[in-house]
Amino acid sequence: MIAEKPSVAQSIAKVLGATSREDGCLVGNGYIISWCFGHLVELASADAYDPHYAKWVLNDLPIIPENWKYVVSADKGKQFEILSGLMSDKRVDGLVCATEAICTACAGKAAVVQSITRQEKTAQPPKLYDLTTLQRDANRILGYTAQQTLDYIQSLYEKKLVTYPRTDSKYLTDDMQDAIPELVKTVCTSFPFVENPPVHAERVIDSSKVSDHHVIILTRTLAGTDLSGLPTGETSILSLIAARLLCAVGEPCVTAEWEAKLQQVEHGELSASGFMGGIIKLTNGLIKNASTLKPGQNLFHSDREAIGICPRCGKPVYEGKKSLYCSGYKDTLPCGFSLRKNDRFFSAKKKALTRKIAAALLKDGQVSITGLYSQKTRNSYDATVLLADTGGKYVNFMLEFSGKGQERTFRK
Ligand SMILES: [Zn+2]
Repeated sequence: MIAEKPSVAQSIAKVLGATSREDGCLVGNGYIISWCFGHLVELASADAYDPHYAKWVLNDLPIIPENWKYVVSADKGKQFEILSGLMSDKRVDGLVCATEAICTACAGKAAVVQSITRQEKTAQPPKLYDLTTLQRDANRILGYTAQQTLDYIQSLYEKKLVTYPRTDSKYLTDDMQDAIPELVKTVCTSFPFVENPPVHAERVIDSSKVSDHHVIILTRTLAGTDLSGLPTGETSILSLIAARLLCAVGEPCVTAEWEAKLQQVEHGELSASGFMGGIIKLTNGLIKNASTLKPGQNLFHSDREAIGICPRCGKPVYEGKKSLYCSGYKDTLPCGFSLRKNDRFFSAKKKALTRKIAAALLKDGQVSITGLYSQKTRNSYDATVLLADTGGKYVNFMLEFSGKGQERTFRK
């Protein structure tokens, strides 16, 4: 019998008379009772699907696996081993899930409900930032130290983009209520997280809870400021404060809504794939919003530099493991531009399609290369390689010799 946790296993063992203790289980009276510690198995992290996902890069998101992988939770390997061992133990001829066992015991008999616990769940919107919570979030989300965050916020304060930062209040004063909708509008213009969100200003207002200074909030100066001129650290902190404001005054619906949907799945009113579809749609929307941020506003620190601009769609081209690819491959109408590092055109000439060559091809449409190998003459030669893209699955190239004409290789 498997219980969800040790204490439950002990109670059951007592009732069943399984009194002798073995490694990770209780045994006796024909029973072996073991336990889990909550979840012994969890979803694998993104890099289990592709090592390349170990670092989060905006262009890879969202990562939605077709088949989910699972791993044994870090500190629960021992109990997992014990349970696996018991399942193949000769003494075991059947397996009972302890919770189901209670149901089975009652089946067909009259049951008396002795107590009902009613739990009301409300999802509270977050409060605005005081200095400490801002520093905590900036550390968790952006990896900044408390001092870094303090320096950035101090600089933003000096630029009059945020209010006085050394505050421990979490509310605004009553007289500020009327100004909130206008401020939210300004924030939405500067940070395109959402469009026209609902504004419940009353949630962030409480004069009685404001001591010397009210909570940290963006100011109207934001409207006339070109944020692309700010250092990345300051823009990131500003983005956090902006996002927090929108959450605090917006609809606190997200979590509650998903919980309600999960319940519908449980009751067979909504299919699991329908639920998943909703999650995927929401995730894609969030990512799309994040990717419309200007580079300086990027909350995800992409360590990848674009190699150049895609000749087909104008989006940045990045270097992957095996190819140099256009970041537009995840668009609704995906852009298929990609240069394979082991491209036949180059490998036949014993040259690698390097980042440098790709950069030149993207910038000028051509690149001069020396020491190309000729399979015909077995000699090497110099030539200009031209990008001759026809929009097909593979990108085509063309060779140009000074004064000697052209050689084309086209593939579909
Ligand atoms: Zn493209």
